[in-house]
Amino acid sequence: MEVLYSSTRNSGLKITASQAILKGLSDDGGLFVPDHIPALDRPLKELAGRPYRDIAYEVMKLYLTDFTEEELKTCIERAYDSKFDTKEIVPVTEAEGVYYLELFHGSTIAFKDMALSILPHLMITSAKKNHVKNEIVILTATSGDTGKAALAGFAGVEGTKIIVFYPKNGVSPIQEKQMVTQKGSNTYVVGIRGNFDDAQNGVKAIFNDRQLAGEMEAAGLQFSSANSINIGRLVPQIVYYVYAYAQLLHDGKISDGEKINVVVPTGNFGNILAAFYAKNMGVPIGKLICASNENKVLYDFFTTGKYDRNREFVLTSSPSMDILISSNLERLIYRIAGDDAGKNTQLMESLSKAGSYEITEQMKVQLSDFYGGYASEEETAKRIKEMYENTGYIIDTHTAVASAVYRKYVAKTGDKTVTVIASTASPFKFSRSVMHAIDGKYDTMSDFELVDELSEIGKVPVPGAIEEIRTAPVVHDHVCDKTEMKTVVKRFLGID
Ligand SMILES: *Cc1c(COP(=O)(O)O)cnc(C)c1O
Repeated sequence: MEVLYSSTRNSGLKITASQAILKGLSDDGGLFVPDHIPALDRPLKELAGRPYRDIAYEVMKLYLTDFTEEELKTCIERAYDSKFDTKEIVPVTEAEGVYYLELFHGSTIAFKDMALSILPHLMITSAKKNHVKNEIVILTATSGDTGKAALAGFAGVEGTKIIVFYPKNGVSPIQEKQMVTQKGSNTYVVGIRGNFDDAQNGVKAIFNDRQLAGEMEAAGLQFSSANSINIGRLVPQIVYYVYAYAQLLHDGKISDGEKINVVVPTGNFGNILAAFYAKNMGVPIGKLICASNENKVLYDFFTTGKYDRNREFVLTSSPSMDILISSNLERLIYRIAGDDAGKNTQLMESLSKAGSYEITEQMKVQLSDFYGGYASEEETAKRIKEMYENTGYIIDTHTAVASAVYRKYVAKTGDKTVTVIASTASPFKFSRSVMHAIDGKYDTMSDFELVDELSEIGKVPVPGAIEEIRTAPVVHDHVCDKTEMKTVVKRFLGID
């Protein structure tokens, strides 16, 4: 059955998947949502043991219904290939009786690669299908990982340009080095004096700037978004939850139909929303455990029903989760409002004006699949150290937030359900915080000494993505104020 996409702020709108991928964000400021969540059309036990790419096709074909089989399979083959450093694409590693779904084996060693290695191909295919002649300009705000993953995905892709904004003092040194060394004449990287939300708000404002859109059109250009709000990001993320279940089934770790819990270290709410979609497609998922760091807006939301961004922004050791506005939550809000765009718009307006909103009791009841938890900086560091000492397995700071939240959840509820934790980054990407957590004696080492030491004590080779930037020259050194973002964009595009 065909799936069309509506906006969370206009349920009357119906566009195709390829149109939604091209646009990124709806003109009304809303996010695109499928008009229904399709059910898996094959039993999970049939998918057990099947390669990642096959499962990717089985899941994505149900959402991208205007793509031909050949188009979609070509996109999948181009994305999930030797860019990944393991044949499995997403290995499932058992530690302390819990399954870590390693989403960090792509070209930038973080989970954003899962979607961003396929998005450029989905986008170019979408452009062709819709007879778009304009050059596509990807505009992205990043808290670190999206930026590099998007740059790596789009660099050198004909018919596209990519501009990435990141908070100058809000990403790790390695994340920054990864971005500012990005090659490709169609790439542009800018640090802003502000935090991630400033960068994201600036990008949203540029997207909604009608006058600028007109100037772009006249110059044969049009914007699209690689941010996690793009439906072309969300759909590929559903795949690995289906894959994880199929894999556990194949390995005899669960029986057919047995429920699993899923824990996701959460920032913008994209990854956990994909797990929610997987559940609604028929994957037997019990609890969706939403793990936050000290920026615990989502924990507060799930415990009280009130979303309130009016609080101090904390810089933590899990910077990709340092977010006070979780954009993808809007898709969940729309759904629990009964696909009521008016109600959702009202709440989102309250968020933008007052910085907060509160959902009704009726909406709250529908959140029972979710459990919100958070971990302090201290708990996160302790978890990394304990895990290393117990098992020798080294997890990154984001994964450690999830692992710590999971331990607290079990202590509180006694829930023994088989559990999958989304492991969102390689520890090499956050080696300073990870090594500090294991032992303070590493603090005096340089970034690359830490990388080598981590490889030594964890008995894992240094990933290619890190080796690459050891000596790479810095090619982007632009910094601007948050008020200057539009000017910077126009200058880069040559329309100032
Ligand atoms: C982006 C990111 C997250 C948060 O994912 P969301 O989809 O934004 O919730 C968690 N961990 C890492 C390493 C990330 O890069």
